[in-house]
Formats: sequence, structure tokens, C-alpha cells
Amino acid sequence: MNFSCLLKLDLRRLILFLAVISVLVTLANGFYASYEVQRALLIRDSLAANRAYAAKLAETTDIVLKAAQDQLAYSADLLRDKMDDEQALMAEARRLHQQTDSFNSVVVVGANAVILAASPDTLGVKGLRLSSPNALQSLNAKRPLVTDPFVSPSGNYILAISHPVFTADGNYLGYISGSIYLRERNILANVLERHFHQDGSHLYVVDRNGTLIYHPEAERVGENITGNPVIEAVLDGRLGAETLRNSKGVDMLAGFAPVTRAGWGVVAQRPRADTLAGLDGLMLEVFMRILPLGLLTLSAIWLSALFISRPLWQLAQSARVMDQPGALGRISAIRSWYFEASRLKRAILKGAGLMNDRISQLHTDSHTDAPTGLLNRRGLEQALESLQLAGRPVALITLDIDHFKQVNDRFGHDVGDQAIGLLAQLMKSQARKGDLLCRSGGEEFLLLLPDTELAPALEVAERLRRQVAGQPVPVVGRMTISLGLARWAGDAGGIRQALKRSDEALYRAKAAGRNRTECAPE
Ligand code: GH3
Ligand code: MG
Ligand code: MG
Repeated sequence: MNFSCLLKLDLRRLILFLAVISVLVTLANGFYASYEVQRALLIRDSLAANRAYAAKLAETTDIVLKAAQDQLAYSADLLRDKMDDEQALMAEARRLHQQTDSFNSVVVVGANAVILAASPDTLGVKGLRLSSPNALQSLNAKRPLVTDPFVSPSGNYILAISHPVFTADGNYLGYISGSIYLRERNILANVLERHFHQDGSHLYVVDRNGTLIYHPEAERVGENITGNPVIEAVLDGRLGAETLRNSKGVDMLAGFAPVTRAGWGVVAQRPRADTLAGLDGLMLEVFMRILPLGLLTLSAIWLSALFISRPLWQLAQSARVMDQPGALGRISAIRSWYFEASRLKRAILKGAGLMNDRISQLHTDSHTDAPTGLLNRRGLEQALESLQLAGRPVALITLDIDHFKQVNDRFGHDVGDQAIGLLAQLMKSQARKGDLLCRSGGEEFLLLLPDTELAPALEVAERLRRQVAGQPVPVVGRMTISLGLARWAGDAGGIRQALKRSDEALYRAKAAGRNRTECAPE
């Protein structure tokens, strides 16, 4: 940016520029702060909601498990005397399986690991002996147990809830167990999906080893997802919420809660992007609310900039054309309503006033004959010109001292000068306001009487002549003047023509014997 470019920036634009920039920065800052706060709030709310959601579902799962265990405990108590009664075992297994939908299947297993009864019948596992370590979890535990997931003899991926059967005197007879088919419709899915939120959240449950035992995508059941900080925390028995990146690289807001009865963990999570999806709308709303006041503020600033810069702008404009007529009047009319502008206005007016005084003084000086204080030759020329321009009628009286050469010769030049001064004073005393008195040459003078007819002008001339003739001049004694009179009517003839005629009249007065006035015919 060069200097001339800077010059084109006026105060109003500068104020406007500064104000608009600061308003925009403030608005943008507010907008950004609001964005950050909203964003943090959304994330915090979502985390809290997921934490509460996980806690609620962990509690529900716990209730389901407890109910299942209670049912099994009741059956185990019922069967302690009937473990060799095949019919009774079958009936109890069927009742447990069919009465509620807690279990996908029910088996009764003897202490020798042989399956004594099973429901549904279609399992076809009755009489089988369990052998795999996973299948033997319940047998070996000899206490109420929720097993780790395993593949059952019938080929289902299951976990089992079991209760041991003891005789009254404490002999271990086997156990009764209800299974949950993890990859099929089961009690967990029923309970968990019933409480499912439709806000993009999803829920999964891991067992104590970090194996998925419930997941909305059924094919992921059985997958081990250890190494995830949320899983580690929840399997550590902690309740909480955290932001994490899942195995697919998606940022998630996760709430988690343990199911202590089984050592499981429930995780409710929602993609962060889903949570923040509403943010754009919110910010648009914030923007729309900021907009009216913002626009109003900008308009107010624009008006203020105009208002503040106006006096200075006007002063600058007027100062640029100071030489034009009426400039001072225009500056006086400027409303300078604050300190700097009013001081500036006063300074300009004062400066201009001083300059005008000085100019008019110079003008006066250059148009004045210093010894007499009458107009000099230049002043006379200008006076003639303005009268001519105005077309103003004027009477012209040319006068010359008689035999002045002798005065000089006899009494010296200084005495002659004093005589000229005296004559000038007499002329002034005779003049009316508006008359113009000139010293047109050494001892020659001219009176211009605007708007005066010939007759009154003649009176003036005669009065002056008589006064000079009657007034003794120091050292010199008597002094007389001769006068020539002419009139210009303001017409086409020209004022210089009239001047010439009054000169001729003077000449005639001299010729006719001096100390007299001659009139040029109109
Ligand atoms: P007249 O006009 O009556 O014909 O006679 P005059 O003697 O006045 O003749 P003229 O006008 O020719 O002479 C003018 C004289 O006035 C010449 C000069 O010495 C004298 N004079 C002109 N200007 C001044 C001046 O400023 N001071 C003095 N002291 N004398 C001047
Ligand atoms: Mg002369
Ligand atoms: Mg003379």
C-alpha cells in the first residue's frame, strides 16, 4: 500500500473499518466459544446418558440372572430326592424350559457327567457323557455358576446358568442347568433390545474374559475384544464413561457398567459424529439469533462513523476550496459537535480571518498614496474599473494646483509637499461617504462622486476651490487650484472618455486664467 492509497482512506472509512473488524472478530469469537461449549455439552451429555443407560441395563441383566438362578435353585431343591426318577427329571426340565423364556434349553446332569434329562427333546443329548473342560465347568464348580461361553454337545454356542444338587446330608448328585443360546434369540437379547435407544447408540455385553456374549450384530458374538480400555475398566468392576476409538477407527462415546453377579460388563456407546450431528443445526440457530443484533450493531456503527467523521470531512472539503467565495460562511455553518472538530473549525476560521485581514491590508497599501492617504494611481485605475463594470453614473472632478512650480522654486520642495498635504486634508473634509479621492499625479488630483449629477458636483468643486483659495497655506500664503468637471452617465460612452473630458475642462480652466472650475458639456 503506498502513500497516495492511504490518502484516499478517509476518517469515516477508517472508523468503519476498525469497528466492523472488531465487531466481526467479537462475533466470530462468540460464535466459536458457543460452538466449543455446545460441543463439549453434547459430548458430556451423551457420555452421561450412555453411562446411565449402561448402568440401567447392567442392573436389568443382573435381575434376569438372579431370577434364573432362583428358578434353578428351586428346581435343584425339588430334585434332590428324585435324581434317579427319570420321569420326574424330564418333567422338571420341561417345566423349567417351557414355563418361562429364561432358558433356551435345560439339562439335568448326574455326578458322573452323564446327561440325565434334557428339554427340548429334540436336543438328543440325553445319555451323553460330558467330556470337554468347558462343558464340565458346572460339574466341577459344585456351586451356583454362570459359565463362560462354550460349544454345547448339541453344537450350540451357549453359556449356562447352573445350580448344584446336593442330598440333605451334603452328597453331590449333579446339577441342573439352563442354557442361553448366544447366537439365537435369548433372554438377554429380549431384555436388552427392549430397552434399546433409537439415537444411534448401541449396546454390547462381554463376559469376564472380554468375549462378546451379546452384540446387535449377531455374528460378532464370541469375538474377543480385550485390549480396549473401556472393556478393561468395566471388567475391573468400574462404572463410568469414556471417549474411545473402536476397532474400526470410529470415535465412540461409551458408558459402561459391570454386572457383578456374573463378572460381565455392559457397554453402551454412540458414535461421536452422531452425537455432534445436531451441532450444525444448533450453530445455525445461534447464528440466526446473533444475526439481527449483529446487523443492528453494524448499522449503528456505520451511522456513528458517519456522524463522527462528518464535521471533519466537511472541514476538510471546505478547506480544500478556501479560495472560493462563501467558503468562510460554509465553514461557520459546519456543526462541529465535539472538541477536536470545534477546535479545528475555530482554528481554520481564525487562520482564514487573519489571512483575509492581511490580504486586505496589502491591498489597501498598494492602492494608497502614503503621504496623503488618498488613492494612488493604481487605486484610481481600480476604482474606475469597478465603476465602469457596475455601470454606475459618476461625476469626475480633475484638479491641479496653480503655478505650483513657483511654490517649489520659491519655498523648496518640502514646503511644496506640505501644501499638497493641506490640499488633501481639505479634499477629505469636503468629501461625502462613498466619494473616491485620488492623487493622480504630483500636484494633480481626481474626485469621483458616484451617483451625482453635474449641478451638485459643480457645487462641490466650487466649494473646494473657494475653501482652498480662502485658506492661507503656511509659508506659502495664498494658493489656488483649477478644476475640470465631467459626468459619466453609466452608458456606453466609457468612463475613460469622461475622464478625458474633465481633463480638457481643467485645461480650459487653466487657459481661462486659473482658480476656476470648467464644466465639460454632457
Ligand atoms: P500650472 O499648473 O498652473 O500651469 O503651473 P504649474 O507650475 O503648476 O505647472 P506644472 O503643473 O507644469 O508644474 C508642476 C510642478 O509641480 C512641477 C514639479 O516641480 C511640481 N511637483 C510635482 N509633484 C510634486 C511633489 O510631489 N512635490 C513637490 N514639492 N512638487 C511637485
Ligand atoms: Mg500640473
Ligand atoms: Mg499645476
